Amino acid sequence: MKGSLLYEGKAKKVYHVNDQEDQLILSYKNDATAFNGKKKDQFEGKGRLNNLITSKVFEYLKQHQIDSHFIKALNDTEQLVQKTTIIPLEVVVRNVAAGSITRRLGIQEKTRFTPPIVELFYKKDELNDPLINDVHAYHLTDITEQELVYIKEMALTVNEQLTQLFKEANLQLVDFKLEFGRLADGTIVLADEVSPDTCRLWDLETGEKMDKDVFRENIGDLISTYENILQRLEANTHA
Ligand code: ADP
Ligand code: UDP
Repeated sequence: MKGSLLYEGKAKKVYHVNDQEDQLILSYKNDATAFNGKKKDQFEGKGRLNNLITSKVFEYLKQHQIDSHFIKALNDTEQLVQKTTIIPLEVVVRNVAAGSITRRLGIQEKTRFTPPIVELFYKKDELNDPLINDVHAYHLTDITEQELVYIKEMALTVNEQLTQLFKEANLQLVDFKLEFGRLADGTIVLADEVSPDTCRLWDLETGEKMDKDVFRENIGDLISTYENILQRLEANTHA
């Protein structure tokens, strides 16, 4: 079923599917990278955890009428998805200040954003994924104004749903990054992954950081942290 390798990224490998041109297999790796690949390590079991967490998240979103590229988990580390042409934008939603916005704008960590802030970054490693505005996005990608409105609305709806999902797991959804892609007919769908690599999650009671910041900041054990997230989601989604 698994065809040839299409692309190897920092966190996943992407494979063609034999006799199924409109599908891909995403294979989650054990590699962790931060600061645009400058900090690197490997963690046995990370690929499994991100694959299973992302699968749970996309299944939850589907139950709440939010479609994505996700079709099904194939095994511990691989999932079947619809093939898209990724729009090279990272759409970040922020409920609470953390990470780059604190440094870029001098906003104190933990400051609440009501309403949430949506930011666009141009997905281009060579340029360090710079922050861009809407007009830049029209120049740099093929999206129309209407489609960008749709993408931002979708990002905010996903935020509402995921805030609830994680709250039930006793976690605060601080911020996260989404990617969108186009199917063969041009329709835009939510793609890529939603995992502790791409979200900031803080324990609702203790405020403890329970995401890739444990790796970025060397403040904890990545595997036991991600395992804890998966267990909390499993306990709350009646899997
Ligand atoms: P990166 O490319 O940033 O190093 P990954 O290691 O996660 O990231 O690689 C996975 C790649 O697959 C990303 O470039 C992502 O945009 C792309 N991708 C995710 N979902 C799909 C999809 N449904 N169709 C095509 N490409 C996808
Ligand atoms: N993020 C991501 N991939 C990126 C950049 C950011 O998944 O290439 C996620 C990150 O995990 C966080 C959110 O997007 O949940 C906001 O990241 P930020 O802009 O604060 O950058 P960082 O401080 O993580 O470099």
